[in-house]
Amino acid sequence: MATYAQVALLRPSRYLDLLYTYKIPYEANEISIGARVKINFNNRIEEGFIFSLSTENTYQGEVKPILEILPKDLWLTPELVELIKWVSEYYLCSITEALNLVSSPEKIYLPSEVLCAVVDEHRLKQKVEKSKCLKNDKALANLLKEKSGWLKNSVRVRKLIAEGLLTVIEKKLPAPPEIVLSDSQSSVYRRIVHDLGKDFVGLLHGVTGSGKTEIYLKLAGDVIKQGKQVLFLLPEIGITTQMVARVKKYFPDHTLVYHSRLNSREKFFVWHEVRQGKPVLVLGPRSAAFLPFIKLGLIILDEEHELSYKQEESPKYHVREVVYWRAKRLGVPLLLGTATPSLETYAAVLSGAIKYYRLEKRYQNRPSPKIFIVDMFKEAKEGNTGIISRTLNQKIEERLVKGEQVFLFLNRRGFAPTIMCRSCGYFYRCPDCDVAVTYHKEEKNFQCHYCGKKIVATRKCPVCQENSLDLYGYGTERVEEELQRLYQARILRVDYDTMKGKDSYEKIILAMKRKEVDILVGTQMLAKGFDFPDLTLVGVLNADQSLNLPDFRAGERSFNLLTQVAGRAGRGIVPGEVVIQTFNPENYVLKAVKDGNYQQYALKELFNRKLAGYPPFNKIFRIIIAGRDEQLILEGAKCFADLLKFNSERLKANIEIIGPASAPYYKLKRNYRYHILIKGNKGNIAREVLKNVVLEFKTTSFYSKLTLALDLSPQIFF
Ligand code: ADP
Ligand code: ZN
Repeated sequence: MATYAQVALLRPSRYLDLLYTYKIPYEANEISIGARVKINFNNRIEEGFIFSLSTENTYQGEVKPILEILPKDLWLTPELVELIKWVSEYYLCSITEALNLVSSPEKIYLPSEVLCAVVDEHRLKQKVEKSKCLKNDKALANLLKEKSGWLKNSVRVRKLIAEGLLTVIEKKLPAPPEIVLSDSQSSVYRRIVHDLGKDFVGLLHGVTGSGKTEIYLKLAGDVIKQGKQVLFLLPEIGITTQMVARVKKYFPDHTLVYHSRLNSREKFFVWHEVRQGKPVLVLGPRSAAFLPFIKLGLIILDEEHELSYKQEESPKYHVREVVYWRAKRLGVPLLLGTATPSLETYAAVLSGAIKYYRLEKRYQNRPSPKIFIVDMFKEAKEGNTGIISRTLNQKIEERLVKGEQVFLFLNRRGFAPTIMCRSCGYFYRCPDCDVAVTYHKEEKNFQCHYCGKKIVATRKCPVCQENSLDLYGYGTERVEEELQRLYQARILRVDYDTMKGKDSYEKIILAMKRKEVDILVGTQMLAKGFDFPDLTLVGVLNADQSLNLPDFRAGERSFNLLTQVAGRAGRGIVPGEVVIQTFNPENYVLKAVKDGNYQQYALKELFNRKLAGYPPFNKIFRIIIAGRDEQLILEGAKCFADLLKFNSERLKANIEIIGPASAPYYKLKRNYRYHILIKGNKGNIAREVLKNVVLEFKTTSFYSKLTLALDLSPQIFF
């Protein structure tokens, strides 16, 4: 039996990120990796988890005993401990940081009510007769009459249960409906079932509305029937009441929803059920990927291409990589699904590492929308310099006559995104960030969309002092105003500024359903997941906005976004139309969106990536060095890059080190920013180099004066 335990602290310490050795108390009768313990650390009582056990002590100093072993319900599972170690090694973060991804409960919450049934009616009645307290308990009297019912989870009730007079029973809900798949869905389902096995990773590629969710649910049902658990991950925005209701319809007894806004009691409940091995389906965003499943039978990652699966705070992990690890470690099948696969996933399909299933058509063969591309340059040359092209205008008017609904998409809130001085050419930027401010008309201010700073709006140029600041470009506020001028219509604007209320989404859904809205104007908050049957026209006002971002994934992201937006049109019986306005009508991304041809676009994009040596063909790591002192961080960044070069040569790593260069957002929240990129075809060796460099860099005088952020799976490059 082990005598010593190596403990990871739950709170960061000033000291090195280590495991600390403690002695296991003699009287401890059960202990394992993952156990939660209290220890004396530096004269403070701290909590931590046992990460390893040993019979011998390798620590030189004095070894203190573990003070207390907390109840088993609060422990991690050994697999979760391994996962945390992997996260810390893979993303080069501390164990404590990785540990905090797991929101392990701090205490046990007893359920406030329990559903009980009578076991021994005779003795129970006798007991109730004798006690005045029990006699006055209405719930208990009702239970005696009905033979079962809900009771407050009190000491008294627990005593009756312990004495064997009552027993806790499971709630029984009416039998759920069968899932009936269409022909094409069921042929895909049967192929998946046939292929399912220990090392199964599959991609379900189907347009929105093709019924991917129905297939997930059918597969999930099979797993639950076997008494196993399902992890069903959705992007943050996907966990709508609509989706939860849809899953609960099929698995009323087995659905658990998990996300960061739950309170501690609710979180504990999910943790507990999962850890007990109950056959449940857990629906949640990326945080749910860190629950202590012990009988996992299937992982589903819906909308696998979504950016919100990447955490942008440290540890900057990608949940796709986390579920790959868990699926592999636990021998559990992993099913990815999307209408627009990420190129990482698609490349793995082409190489045969991921199995591929295609749903070509929408459910019930509803036609896909017809897409028109409008050349805004031509439009301007022919005299129309407004934000609405003639084609779009004509189609909007048709819809207004017919009483159908329109969605105009512009991914920019506020009134005007550019404020420039007509006389000296000064371009108004946030004083704290290297970012243009946006004029907000309702609030009458200039706002920085990065840090949130608000500056009272003025016409006076801060440089030449003339009253000649002018507004250029369009935000949603301005489009709304323009639409009011152009059309006799009821217009609803939906963006971050109008969506601050708690049930804003519900209100929009209702207003659209009741046909109180003719034209919806909005940002990407509306791009995903909505299903409005009377919406038959979508207009993308400025498709170039996302195409022109300085990022090698700009094309990929534009394809995804535009496909999603276009998918909002014609979800009902009437087929939809989509108008995409652009200054680059020849762009291959737009052409592929128009043709609805994912493959055409993906192969071309992969070809470009290969030429440039970008992912998925190479790994890229990104190091960001930031701080207030511009000179110092440049020197620090240079030092870091030099260390990288030196170590890369020493380890013969064969990696490319790019930079330091100023980051595209050079200044954010008063911090100047440099970044360095590492490019190489072997992640592990690049990681090894980087790990060494970080250790070395920590001993330089720079380290304490700047912030160093590592991104081992960078998705955005601002
Ligand atoms: P996806 O997940 O691919 O976007 P959904 O599963 O949400 O597609 O299906 C789109 C719509 O079609 C939903 O409203 C869904 O209820 C309906 N639908 C799809 N397949 C079926 C089916 N087999 N039986 C009944 N309705 C279905
Ligand atoms: Zn700012």
